[in-house]
Amino acid sequence: MVARKFLVQHDDSNFDVEYDTDDGLEVLKFQLFSLTSIPPDEQKILGGEDGRPISDDSDLIAIIDKLRLVSINEEAKEKVESSANHGGTTQNDDIVQSDEEFARMLQAEEEALLLQEFVAGKDKGAMEGKIRPYVDTVLLYEDPIRQEAARKTVPVDELEEKALVALAKEGNFNPSKTEHDHYFLLQLLFWFKESFRWVDAPHCDGCGNKTVHQGKGDPLPSEILYGGSRVELYRCLFCSRITRFPRYNDPLKLVETRRGRCGEYANCFTLYCRTFGYESRLILDFTDHLWTECFSHFLGRWMHLEPCEGAYDKPLLYEKGWEKKLNYVIAIARDGVYDVTKRYTRKWHEVLSRRNITTEPVLSDVLSHITKERRKGFTSQVLSVLEDRDRK
Ligand SMILES: [Zn+2]
Repeated sequence: MVARKFLVQHDDSNFDVEYDTDDGLEVLKFQLFSLTSIPPDEQKILGGEDGRPISDDSDLIAIIDKLRLVSINEEAKEKVESSANHGGTTQNDDIVQSDEEFARMLQAEEEALLLQEFVAGKDKGAMEGKIRPYVDTVLLYEDPIRQEAARKTVPVDELEEKALVALAKEGNFNPSKTEHDHYFLLQLLFWFKESFRWVDAPHCDGCGNKTVHQGKGDPLPSEILYGGSRVELYRCLFCSRITRFPRYNDPLKLVETRRGRCGEYANCFTLYCRTFGYESRLILDFTDHLWTECFSHFLGRWMHLEPCEGAYDKPLLYEKGWEKKLNYVIAIARDGVYDVTKRYTRKWHEVLSRRNITTEPVLSDVLSHITKERRKGFTSQVLSVLEDRDRK
């Protein structure tokens, strides 16, 4: 046992901490919690001249007397603010980081990976089971009948006109095809958002009044036909009639019903994107959300599109705006599946600590296996184009 006295600096305050090295780091963290109210799992204790954080592996007998305590949450907040002050756009522009910050984030990433090795299963099944159904869904977007049904609902001339007006407003009266396509896609998004209806509880089929959730119902054959195997039931507050709300998975049906929640929005909108020839991905966020990405030749990269909000190219909308604690964000396209999580976070080390379904190597195995399967028989020329696009 070695009794030590530390001087711990946090913000503008200093705290004296007496501590027994046999107790381990966890006890030190609880002592600091009682002094600063920063929970142990949000503490980062910096102890070296080079600013390295103290970890379970650190030699608590040898470290210096003066320590600095940082709250991970405050740190993340500062980082977002400072990047906003740098006039950063929402695309993944790199944050200006000190070597110290960088070292700490690397350390946190290493720790998260170690934890993952320890707690995550090595079984591929759980991950594969989550992704596979969406691979089937995106293949529906290639069906000419579904595309034709979608196309019929779009006021194409009107959107063309609006795209040209938007370009003209920017002084571009003679747009290239690439520019035109990009602006048309945005108009398609805005139109879609207005033409689709969000439904929490549907109005009564009989009298149009408000309803309340009543439970689950058995799907009818006509509902199953369009992937509506989950049926929610709602009871009218006025006439007590039961209204069904089947959660259709087939975008052919959604083109007609034009209502639902984020799953229906993203599913149907991605069909529209494919209908107009955009390379598209359905984006599956494991914390219960879906959206779309299209490859913009105008930007030279994949672009985020949020059909529920009509927002685009705002990949930090979820983590920063909605304060989501993301873990896995997987892009699903007709020719492969990709882990795009890093596009949607500025806190990769924190995201990593929540990725416990399986290990990173197993995840990457599952994704590359499905991608290979989808690309079977492709020529090497096509493959190299796709692989180049994957990286953007
Ligand atoms: Zn009613």
